Amino acid sequence: MTTTAHGYAAPSADAPLAPFSFERRDPQPDDVAIDILFCGVCHSDLHTARGEWPGTLYPCVPGHEIVGRVRAVGSDVTKFAVGDVVGVGCMVDSCGHCASCADGEEQYCETTGFVGTYNGPDPVLGGHTFGGYSDQIVVKQGFVLKIGHDEKDLAAVAPLLCAGITTYSPLKHWKVGPGQKVGIVGLGGLGHMGVKIAAAMGAEVHVFSTSPNKREDAIRLGARDLIVSKDEDAMAAHTGTFDFILNTVAASHNLDQFLMLLKRDGTMTLVGVPEEPHPSPSVGALVFKRRAIAGSLIGGIAETQEMLDFCRDHGLVADIEMLAMKDVEQGYDRMQKSDVKYRFVIDMATLEK
Ligand SMILES: [Zn+2]
Ligand SMILES: [Zn+2]
Repeated sequence: MTTTAHGYAAPSADAPLAPFSFERRDPQPDDVAIDILFCGVCHSDLHTARGEWPGTLYPCVPGHEIVGRVRAVGSDVTKFAVGDVVGVGCMVDSCGHCASCADGEEQYCETTGFVGTYNGPDPVLGGHTFGGYSDQIVVKQGFVLKIGHDEKDLAAVAPLLCAGITTYSPLKHWKVGPGQKVGIVGLGGLGHMGVKIAAAMGAEVHVFSTSPNKREDAIRLGARDLIVSKDEDAMAAHTGTFDFILNTVAASHNLDQFLMLLKRDGTMTLVGVPEEPHPSPSVGALVFKRRAIAGSLIGGIAETQEMLDFCRDHGLVADIEMLAMKDVEQGYDRMQKSDVKYRFVIDMATLEK
């Protein structure tokens, strides 16, 4: 049995998103049915909808930064009740029994891979999954998060479900904390959350950006200062002083200029995947100070809940601009020019049915 949902979909790679109706399964025993209130707009949405990454299945309903209210629960659901405010991030399922799933790292599921909130194989109805640019979604309770923030902040909570966990997970994994000097490369949707979270963890945070005019904002978000990465003297002044660098820039760039700033045993973790490869980093820069370059992908469900609770306890939400559903293409165009501070969030009340 299914229920008709309404949303916006890209019908093909070269056609704009437009109103689209489709079927959601009725809640099975382990499912939570959610009326969507807000959905953040992630760069992955744009890349997928416009076919800039291989493998988009059309029609494509993007959206994996979802906040909503529980409308119904299946008979086996114990963690959630009707009326609860909940979130859904980038995943809606995984195999549940491989080593990564057993460790609560479902994003690294080794058998089937995790099931994406959109553009993944729909485990129940067949076909592919449809995301959060819609009025409702049905998700297994194990992939639903509890939201404890104030109701007035819910729109700004939505981006935590992808941008928040993508930055929290590596900061936590590499044990960022008080007494450490931490760099955040890039001040966009991911970077601005990285600054807030690293500062809340007690680190001294420095932002690397090509644009000096972001300095005031970087400091407002919690950074000690902004280092202009094109300024060789400014960069050289920090050589060998950073404990950890979180690099959020997906465009191909020279990694060595940041590697040189790490202390002995320092790590730079990359969370963006470039279309064109980065120039090969200097092995000497790695070897002589036992430095490391690492990667990190979102975070597991338990860690996503931990991140949401951490953000609630520290009063952290994203800096957002609200977007009406029908204006999503204008939002994409502005995102491509980095003209958003720092995340668009769609108010699902603007969706015309
Ligand atoms: Zn995302
Ligand atoms: Zn698995």
